[in-house]
Amino acid sequence: MRRDPILILGGTSEAREIANALHGAGHAVTTSLAGVTEQPVLPAGDVRSGGFGGVIGLKSYLESGRIALVIDATHPFAARMSGQAFEACRDSGVPLMRFERRPWAAGDGDDWTIVASAVEAVRALPAGARVLLTTGRKDLEPFFARRDIDGVARMIESPPMDPPANWRVLRERPPFTLAGEAALMAAHDITHLVTKNAGGAATEAKLVAARERRIPVLMIARPTKPEVPQFATVGDLMGSVKRLLSP
Ligand code: NAP
Repeated sequence: MRRDPILILGGTSEAREIANALHGAGHAVTTSLAGVTEQPVLPAGDVRSGGFGGVIGLKSYLESGRIALVIDATHPFAARMSGQAFEACRDSGVPLMRFERRPWAAGDGDDWTIVASAVEAVRALPAGARVLLTTGRKDLEPFFARRDIDGVARMIESPPMDPPANWRVLRERPPFTLAGEAALMAAHDITHLVTKNAGGAATEAKLVAARERRIPVLMIARPTKPEVPQFATVGDLMGSVKRLLSP
């Protein structure tokens, strides 16, 4: 088996799955984590943590590590890292592919408004809204700044600032169940759900709960990322890696 060094840009459960599968297939794999999660679940293979230092730092990492392939399996909203990976791989001549889960789509009974950003979501909320906010620890400020709305902000890590008295922060890690999401919305009299289109089954129950409870959803659309070969299932991506790295 060839031992091609593969760099996985991680931070998602699928990045872990990919690392485990490639490691199991005999590849030398390093997963890179941003270092923002306190106790990350670690994949098989090597793990490094912390930023590279922009495009220049990543280029130097790719070149000194003789990296054969980069797999960008970062979160769909980690646009900066994906942009930098694109530039560094292009400049270093290293192949790049991306795993990106399919986005969620509104169906019958859903009341979604698609917005471009957290700021747009804040503006769209009516006075008196009681919000379930699941956009993570970034972008909290514009929500916390409004004194005429309140609610529950849920995230894995602690927020970068103290919430005002009218907001409650819940630190919880997915997966979430439908029963749990419905109970949370009922307990806090939630009138609006604000989320970003992360996709994936682990955090989808809130959308079903919102549909069942007729709660409007402000859905923040995904940022645009550079065009690279892209896969929505780990199996498809593995097939492509095999073709690329087979002798
Ligand atoms: P981002 O805005 O795209 O990146 C900010 C900076 O963090 C990058 O410039 C890079 O620093 C560093 N970085 C990001 N991902 C990295 C990785 N996998 N390995 C090494 N450095 C990394 O990213 P973000 O939105 O803050 O997300 C940070 C991490 O959390 C990502 O790995 C992402 O997959 C994960 N995550 C993000 C979200 C989300 O909603 N954004 C949700 C779940 C998980 P340098 O410029 O110094 O290289």
